Amino acid sequence: MRFYYDLHIHSDLSPCGLSDMTPCNIVNMSLIKGLNIISITDHNSAGNLPAAMEISRKAGIKVIPGLEVTTKEEVHVLCYFNKLSNAIEFGSIIYDSLPFIKNNPEIFGEQNIYNSKDEITGNLEKLLINASKYTIEDIYSIVKKYNGVMIPAHINKMTNGILGVLGFMPINLKIELVEVYSKIPINNKLTEKYKVLHNSDAHQLIDISEAVNYFELNDINDIYDYLCIY
Ligand SMILES: [Zn+2]
Ligand SMILES: [Zn+2]
Repeated sequence: MRFYYDLHIHSDLSPCGLSDMTPCNIVNMSLIKGLNIISITDHNSAGNLPAAMEISRKAGIKVIPGLEVTTKEEVHVLCYFNKLSNAIEFGSIIYDSLPFIKNNPEIFGEQNIYNSKDEITGNLEKLLINASKYTIEDIYSIVKKYNGVMIPAHINKMTNGILGVLGFMPINLKIELVEVYSKIPINNKLTEKYKVLHNSDAHQLIDISEAVNYFELNDINDIYDYLCIY
């Protein structure tokens, strides 16, 4: 069976995410677009995952708990988990590792946390687009400890993509999946060893993927095996 996905969506918690990117709006827009599996991957925080997971259970769409972490090298990596609690614990380790630089909402945007009724319940003080103190190797190990998977994000983007920043894939890490940014061409030779994800990296509702990219799975819960989350 085909399950249509978009595993890289930012909510209003990410400073660059627009204020209409509330958990309810993201889930509902994803349903309208015909998606079956989504992930909300805010920068360096799991703050809106509890609301998104609760909403998704009623809405009949699968939400994979995820974050987009900025490593010490300024590489963006997507981190996915099979349990909300693991994503939340991992998220607090990452948030704690950010420098104490306050967000200025007028410059960078709001960092709002919502409940499942789409009410703002708080906001995060530290600027989420800064880099964590952990290297890519550190993040790989911490994610593994929480039974998750680390997937380099938009590897073909010069800014914050692993190839643009490091210029190579670290061979000491067992990376099995990569995310390729569809709007920039990439040499197929670079990705033939990997399973490739194509996501929207949406920061506004209209940019959430149409039902184009899909996983061929027998059951929707096989997604964790596909992503190498055991
Ligand atoms: Zn990114
Ligand atoms: Zn992103």
